[in-house]
Amino acid sequence: TSPAARRSIRELPDELISQIAAGEVVERPASVVRELVDNALDAGATQIQLKLMAGGVRAIVVEDDGLGIPVEELPLALKRHATSKIRSLDELESVSTMGFRGEALAAIASVAEMAIATRCEGAPHAHRLEARSGELKVAARSRGTSVEVRELFFSTPARRKFLKTDATELAHCLEAVRRHALARPDVGFTVWHEGKLVEQWRAASSEQRLADVLGEEFMAQSRPVFAEAGPLLRIYGRAGLPEAARSRSDMQYVYVNGRYVRDKLIAHGIRAAYEDVLHGNRQPSYVLFIDIAPDRVDVNVHPTKIEVRFRDGREIHQKVRYAVQDALALSRSQLAADGTE
Ligand code: ADP
Ligand code: MG
Repeated sequence: TSPAARRSIRELPDELISQIAAGEVVERPASVVRELVDNALDAGATQIQLKLMAGGVRAIVVEDDGLGIPVEELPLALKRHATSKIRSLDELESVSTMGFRGEALAAIASVAEMAIATRCEGAPHAHRLEARSGELKVAARSRGTSVEVRELFFSTPARRKFLKTDATELAHCLEAVRRHALARPDVGFTVWHEGKLVEQWRAASSEQRLADVLGEEFMAQSRPVFAEAGPLLRIYGRAGLPEAARSRSDMQYVYVNGRYVRDKLIAHGIRAAYEDVLHGNRQPSYVLFIDIAPDRVDVNVHPTKIEVRFRDGREIHQKVRYAVQDALALSRSQLAADGTE
């Protein structure tokens, strides 16, 4: 075989850069749902409505009643690395919004048809921007933003092939909303699929939201977790009793500063708490919120921010383990006491 002929170095066109970057952020309709709901929450929405078609592949519309986007900034919202959420490294290190990379809308627009309709408080009317054509029109809506995403991966058939059935994609979309709903009981969520109401969670207390999303059975078979180590670390939520363990790890939710994460260290700490009471492949169910000083955790590890890095992983591991252990031990002694009455 002959050596490869050398090709000259070229800068990639912007659209291709976005499509490559989109690969990291947009894997399936549920990734779009996650990013758009993040944005709605960052905009201070109190009500978020999702309308899906064909499991989100045909259409995902996310409507919020948040602050809106001023019309003059609307084209910028679609640009890569353009964000209203951070301005400096300092702000990155203490970021409290879900977003900050300024990538999601650009990424989604590069792999789907997208339009944004938005209106700010005091604006005479709403505007609607179509990403592909750049067409900007006056529109009608109250304060807030609607993002419409249609025909996901229409321009990248190779990716479209990786999508599963509509039912499976819908299930992933619903799981994405569930993850947000657990963390934000103060926000109402409504989900429609093919014109049918499939999920509705009204604003509620944290306890009530957990019950609404995870069911009364989980509430009955779990115990509250609470541990505080100074003002800079707080661990709370609910840990499922051993008898509520499942064969699948599908009821395990961990949040760091309100952001859903998958973290091996935390999962291991929780698992360790169950080591004497759970055997074989039984999977504990739990919802755990970890609030920690922002400078003790790095959220800028992964494009989807699903991974975090702790400055003091060992301490977190131990605190999580003891917090869950305490919750379980408390319930065991309670059960023992109940049994002897
Ligand atoms: P990021 O969320 O990381 O800033 P995005 O690409 O998701 O990046 O969004 C770009 C910008 O568009 C945001 O910084 C925000 O100013 C604006 N934006 C996006 N969605 C909304 C929304 N639902 N309501 C108000 N502003 C929004
Ligand atoms: Mg965002």
